Amino acid sequence: MSDIKMSSAPAGVEGSGFFATTLDQVIGMARSHSLWPLPFATSCCGIEFMATMGAHYDFSRFGSERPSFSPRQADLLMVMGTIAKKMAPVLKQVYTQMAEPRWVIAVGACASSGGIFDTYSVLQGIDEIIPVDVYVPGCPPRPEGIIDGFNKIQELVKNEPARRRNSPEYQALLESYGIQ
Ligand code: SF4
Repeated sequence: MSDIKMSSAPAGVEGSGFFATTLDQVIGMARSHSLWPLPFATSCCGIEFMATMGAHYDFSRFGSERPSFSPRQADLLMVMGTIAKKMAPVLKQVYTQMAEPRWVIAVGACASSGGIFDTYSVLQGIDEIIPVDVYVPGCPPRPEGIIDGFNKIQELVKNEPARRRNSPEYQALLESYGIQ
C-alpha cells in the first residue's frame, strides 16, 4: 500500500487572517466594479461627464452605467462644476446623506480649487467642506481624464479594507496617492 500524504497548503494561504484578507479582496473587487455615481454637475464640466457616459467612452464598461440622483443609492459623489458658496450647504447635505462606504471625486479645476473663479462667492475647492479622494485636473477635463480619475477611485476601493476606512493601512494607501 502506498503512503497517503497530506498535501501542504499553497504558499500564502497559511497564517492567521487569510480568510479575512481574502474576503476583503473579494468585497473590494466587487465594490470597485459596481460603483454607483451621483453626478453633482453644476456647469460645463458636467457636459464632459455626459460625453463620458455616451457610447464612445462607454462608462458602463466599469459597472457604473447607473447614475443615481438619490444619495441613498449612490456611493461615489462626482462633483463637476463651479460650486457657489450658496450651493455649498446643499453639497454637504448630499454628501452627508450618502451611506458609508462613500467616495468623492472633484472633477475639474472649479470643483478642485475654484478654478478661474477666484471670487468671494465661489467655494475655492470642495475640500473646504467635504473630504475628497481623487482630484481630476482640467478646465474641463476630457472624458479620458474623468475615466482616469475613476480608475484611481477603483484602485482605492479595491485595496481598501472592507470596514476599516480609517485604518493605518488605508491612510497609508491614501498617502501613496498623495491624498491626505
Ligand atoms: Fe467650467 Fe472649467 Fe469650471 Fe469645468 S473647470 S466647470 S470647464 S470653468
